Amino acid sequence: MDEWLENLRDALDHIDYGVVLLDRTLTSRFINRAFCEMWTFPQEEANQPHSFARIMQHGYTHAHYKVDDVDAYVAERIARVEEGHDTRMLQLLDGRVIRFACIPLPLGGRMLTYADQTELVNTIQKLESVVNIDELTQVYNRRYLYVLGQNEVAMSRRYGRTLSVLMLDIDHFKRINDAHGHSVGDAVIRAVARSCREIGRSTDSAGRVGGEEFAVLLPETSLAAALQVGERLRSTIAEVDVWTGSEKVRVTISVGVAQWHDADAGFEDLLRRADAALYAAKRSGRNRVCSAQEDSEPGSV
Ligand code: GH3
Ligand code: MG
Ligand code: MG
Repeated sequence: MDEWLENLRDALDHIDYGVVLLDRTLTSRFINRAFCEMWTFPQEEANQPHSFARIMQHGYTHAHYKVDDVDAYVAERIARVEEGHDTRMLQLLDGRVIRFACIPLPLGGRMLTYADQTELVNTIQKLESVVNIDELTQVYNRRYLYVLGQNEVAMSRRYGRTLSVLMLDIDHFKRINDAHGHSVGDAVIRAVARSCREIGRSTDSAGRVGGEEFAVLLPETSLAAALQVGERLRSTIAEVDVWTGSEKVRVTISVGVAQWHDADAGFEDLLRRADAALYAAKRSGRNRVCSAQEDSEPGSV
């Protein structure tokens, strides 16, 4: 073999991402060492010609990934590689994330690259949780709850989906801080946050929107159903002692509930109406749930 070509092959064998060179019939002419290690592809078979379909087959028969319809998956991947360009993230069963790219070569072949991005993706996920999660309570922070709320409102506008929101505030919380100290106060805030997270469905999102104030987004939930969730949350918190590690404390919350309607200009409007309902609950004696309704039922704003 030409010495320079030999050099090129060696160079490709020393880079840390997988490289596969296919000819114009999508048959492999070169598979580098990093590809073999990444996919546990036998090194001794790397020099033999393999169809792109066979190379992919190795991936799922060795349980690197799972697809519902293998034939459709393989056909779609082949079609994209035939067209020329393709980039996608491959999520492997062992948690690795591989960025796949297909680049057409001038003489009709294809270069396939496989870059392991697991560390980068994990770092991004960790950063996202630092940026989006409230440290004290482990529910979403105010900023991220607003992002989620705005997304939910967009879904309600586009598809007419029902959306409700709860706003809640711990009653006479200053007294808890004054009587038991700030760290017991913090433990109470954490306990209320846990109840907010656990009260609804997995699609619900709870966020800490103030010192001892929380909001819960309830997608696909009517005002009547949201009132029930609010009432369940109120009674759960009112009926149990919060064990703060050093002492038991009883707390109550007041809850305001509002359902998205077209007169709301955006998520802030919806939240403002829930907040107004919350203050109605405070005014009418605390430890209760009030709703924001246009009509004037008892207990509504
Ligand atoms: P109300 O029933 O009207 O809500 O009475 P309240 O005493 O709870 O009044 P308010 O909601 O205005 O008080 C909030 C207090 O929460 C004020 C502040 O000292 C305390 N607080 C805010 N953030 C934290 C926190 O992170 N930890 C603790 N321990 N206390 C906090
Ligand atoms: Mg309060
Ligand atoms: Mg407050």
